[in-house]
Amino acid sequence: MNDLKAKLHNVRSRVDSACEKAGRRPSEIKILAVSKRQPAALVRQLHKLGLSAFGENYVREAVEKQAQLADLDLEWHFIGPVQSNKTRQLAQHFDWVQSADREKILRRLSAQRPEALPKLNICIQVNIDREEQKAGVLPENLEELVHFALALPNLRLRGLMTIPRLGSAGHDPTDSYKRMKDLFLSLIDAGIPMDTLSMGMSADLENAIMMGSTMLRIGTDLFGARQ
Ligand SMILES: *Cc1c(COP(=O)(O)O)cnc(C)c1O
Repeated sequence: MNDLKAKLHNVRSRVDSACEKAGRRPSEIKILAVSKRQPAALVRQLHKLGLSAFGENYVREAVEKQAQLADLDLEWHFIGPVQSNKTRQLAQHFDWVQSADREKILRRLSAQRPEALPKLNICIQVNIDREEQKAGVLPENLEELVHFALALPNLRLRGLMTIPRLGSAGHDPTDSYKRMKDLFLSLIDAGIPMDTLSMGMSADLENAIMMGSTMLRIGTDLFGARQ
């Protein structure tokens, strides 16, 4: 518990100092704790320490964990690649899907969202660095997909999500974040209501905050190494 407390404190201070540099307020930035391959007991502890939003990549693992934590008021985000045969479970068990990236997935999520639940919060995942193996819509196809999502009755479009190419000598992920920010702002300028730009992980949250992120997805630096 003390270990988790220290880790959370450390992440919060990094957010605070990055905000100070960027001239932003820490309250503008939500921390999503990425709990994939971490046990339910640690989620419970982080909840006690004040976190309530958790991100998962694997449907079956997530649903099992949610059952173990059903007594807590948690917000669950799906952030892994979406297969169309999993959309029903996503629509039933999650509050957010951040990794929607094509019409078929959006249409199924809306159709399969149970009537009794509020609209499903959606972020469109953008493949900002055009990586072959990565999920996400290409930037030039984003606007059309955004309009498709807006027209579906049981979805609430909240914004965009991205996982940039890993940094290397030839590539600075800060540039990817900058391009995401430009896409996000141009859609908002065009009158599309969105409040979420989900980008930034353990290693690079500072750069993401500098480039306008409103939601950090932090796994390792909150929980420690994954199992
Ligand atoms: C695993 C994962 C994270 C968390 O990464 P860390 O480096 O452990 O902070 C964030 N976003 C997505 C989409 C992930 O799959």
